[in-house]
Amino acid sequence: MISIIGIGPSPKDITLRALESIEKAEVVIGYKKYIDSIEDLLNGKEVIKKGMGDEIARVEMAIQKHLDGKQVALISSGDPGIFGMANVFFQLAGKYSGVQFEIIPGVTAANYGASLLGAPLHDFALISLSDILTPLSEIKRKIKHAALGGMVIALYNPISKTRKSPFREAIKILMNTINPATTVGFVKSSSQPPQITVTTLENLEEDQIDMSTIIIIGNSTTYVENGHMITPRGYVVKQPIHPLSKEFYEKFLNGESIDGPNRSCEYYPCHHHPQNCTFCYCPFYPCGDTSTGGHWIKDKGVWSCQDCEWIHHDATVKCIMEKLPEILDDVEDLKKKKKDLLKLRRECIFKTSQIK
Ligand code: SF4
Repeated sequence: MISIIGIGPSPKDITLRALESIEKAEVVIGYKKYIDSIEDLLNGKEVIKKGMGDEIARVEMAIQKHLDGKQVALISSGDPGIFGMANVFFQLAGKYSGVQFEIIPGVTAANYGASLLGAPLHDFALISLSDILTPLSEIKRKIKHAALGGMVIALYNPISKTRKSPFREAIKILMNTINPATTVGFVKSSSQPPQITVTTLENLEEDQIDMSTIIIIGNSTTYVENGHMITPRGYVVKQPIHPLSKEFYEKFLNGESIDGPNRSCEYYPCHHHPQNCTFCYCPFYPCGDTSTGGHWIKDKGVWSCQDCEWIHHDATVKCIMEKLPEILDDVEDLKKKKKDLLKLRRECIFKTSQIK
């Protein structure tokens, strides 16, 4: 049997299944740096270390040793299926008969980096910027379409000493496709402990990045809270409907509410001028999502919308009004259909975000 084993980003992140497979192996084959990182697990085993770029030789050797009757561990960093050894293994395995194998998944850089940054991954694309095997035109196309689709993007292999243009091209495309103020996080594993940075697309500097950096580009809903990068999913936070909101939506459903700016209100403008007051009380309250400016008032359990201007923009109101009547028949629907309401909110955030 050949076990193609993902050892994750560091020995501390190795899975139990990977450990057991390494323990069972008689021969362990891998890139020198990765083998050295698990040296203490390899006592009494035949160890074959190879250089970078020797992937084909590593797989051929693993198959040969296996066909000689050995239990083989073929080591991959991260996860073998994500820019790892599984792909090259399948390219060659068909040449031989009787090859038995298993793939042991590992923690890939995207979820390792995400765990240090917060919770940035929600519908995401993994794209390697290495143009050694993939044409740059293909990489650029994928970045553009992933960004246009509102995907969070994890960029692997962003830069090397001799390969900088894919990174520069990627940033140029992203700057022209999404809001330059989009939240970006990166984790640099070459520093110990790993360097964790949360910034914005427009402030992402080339000299902050190296080959061992995983970069996560957020989407238009990604926000930063207490230094953590979060892309919300939109879970329903249960809360009774406030009596004033109830009163407001009773009038709204009777067609008695105000459209646009309410200049006769003594609090106008409570956010910006001119502001759209159609949703003086937000149908999504409490959204629990700081991406539009709301926040929890700590220790009071109260959600504050004081800094959310989004709900008062004409484009937002237009988008909400297109679908709200389908959801809201009764004031109680503000509670009962909260999931649908939050989906509408999300749809409108994407529609009103500055995708060029
Ligand atoms: S006003 Fe803004 S922050 Fe407040 S609940 Fe509505 S969308 Fe969320």
